[in-house]
Amino acid sequence: MDKKNLKDHRQIGQELDLFSFHEVAPGNVFWHPKGWTIYRTLQNFLRATLEKEGYQEVSTPVMVKNDLFKKSGHWEHYKENIFNFSLMPFGKTEVIKNEKGTTIITNPPPSPESYSLKPMNCPEASLIFASKTRSYHDLPIRLSEFGVLHRNELSGVLGGLFRARQFVIDDAHHFVREDQIQGEIHKLILLVVDFYNSLNFNPEFYFSTKPDKAMGDLKLWKKAEADLETALKEAKVKYGVKEKDGAFYGPKIDIHIKDSQDRDWQLATIQLDFQIPKQLQLEYIDKDGKPKRPVIIHRAILGSLERFIGILIEHYQGAFPLWLAPTQVMIIPIADRHNGYASSIVQTIELQGIRTSMDNRSERLQAKIRDATLQKVPYLGIIGDKEISNIKNQILNISVRTREGKDLGQIKLSEFITRLKEEIDKKI
Ligand code: ZN
Repeated sequence: MDKKNLKDHRQIGQELDLFSFHEVAPGNVFWHPKGWTIYRTLQNFLRATLEKEGYQEVSTPVMVKNDLFKKSGHWEHYKENIFNFSLMPFGKTEVIKNEKGTTIITNPPPSPESYSLKPMNCPEASLIFASKTRSYHDLPIRLSEFGVLHRNELSGVLGGLFRARQFVIDDAHHFVREDQIQGEIHKLILLVVDFYNSLNFNPEFYFSTKPDKAMGDLKLWKKAEADLETALKEAKVKYGVKEKDGAFYGPKIDIHIKDSQDRDWQLATIQLDFQIPKQLQLEYIDKDGKPKRPVIIHRAILGSLERFIGILIEHYQGAFPLWLAPTQVMIIPIADRHNGYASSIVQTIELQGIRTSMDNRSERLQAKIRDATLQKVPYLGIIGDKEISNIKNQILNISVRTREGKDLGQIKLSEFITRLKEEIDKKI
C-alpha cells in the first residue's frame, strides 16, 4: 500500500459519511446510517459466532451505584477514569392541605446517592451469576455482553474512534471451575484464531505472567499460568511471553493483529481472575455439597468495537470488503427511461439481503460512476437500452463495474447475484 496517500479514519469517516463527533459530547461517537450499518454487520457476525459457541447474551445497566465498584475492587484502581455523580434519591411525597388549596411538598432524604457510569461489565455479570444457586454441573457459564462502557479519558488523549469516552466491548465472562480453566482457554484460543482468520487476519498470541504486585495465592497463580501455557501449546499457536505483565488479579493472554500498514494492534484479551469472585463472594455448590469459588475468565475478541472499526477503516482505507460495505451495490440507470427497470433490479437484489441503492439523479453516467467510486461502493450495476433489450424473453442483464474500475461486462442478473453472495460468504 502506498503510504504517502494514506488517510486517517476520521477523514475517511467524514468523506464516506460514517460518523461524526460533536462538542456537546466530547469523545462520544455519533454513528451515521452507513457507519452504523458497518457496526451492526460486524456485531451480528460476532453474535452468530457466539451463539454457536454456547454463549448466553445478557444486558446490564449503564448507571450503577458506586458501592458495586467499591466491592469489586475496581474503585480503588480505576476511580480517576470512572464518571460518577450524585443523585438525590426519590423523597416521600407529602400532601399538605391549607386554606387556599392543596400544596404538594416533596421531602428528600438528607443524603444524595452516588452513581457511576460503568467502566466495565464484570461486576454486573457477576450479579447475574450470583442471582441463583449454581451447581458444579452448571459450569462453565458463558455470559456475553455488548455493554456500553464509559471511561473518563482526558480530552488530550481522545483520538476519534481509537480512544473514545463511550464505547462497546464485545465482552464475555466465563464462570468456570478450576479444573475447567485449561479446556476453556483452549476453546477460546481456537475461537479467536477462527474468528480472525474469517476476517482475513492472523492473530499473534502473547502470554503474560504474574506481576510483582499480584494479589492472591501463589500456588493458584502457578497452576493458572501452567494451565494457560498448556492451552496455548495444545492449540498449536505460536506465542511470545511478556514476563510479569499479567493483571494484578490473574495471568492473561493478549492477542495482536497487524494491519495493511504493518502496524501492530492489541485487540483480543483472555484474562483469568481469582479476585472478583472473592470480592463479590461468588459461589457454586460442588460435588461434595460444599460451596466453592468459581474462577472468572474475562475475554474480548475484538475489544472496543469503535476502535476496531477505526482500525478497519484505516486498514481498508474505506474500501470495505463486500460483506461490510454499507452500500454493496449501486444501480445506475443511464437515462430516466431506465429508472423503472433499475428500481425493480434494486428490489430483486435487496430481496437477497444485499444492500443496494440506486443513483437516479439526472447526471451524466460518468459523473454517477465517479461518485459511486469515490464512495467506495464495491459494485456498480449499469442499466441502459442494451441491458434491457432481451426483457421480452425474461432475460435481464446488467453491466457490472467494480470500484477499482474493472469492467466485468454484461452479465445475467441471476449470475451477478450468485457472484455477490459467494463473495459475501468469503468475507474477502
Ligand atoms: Zn470483565
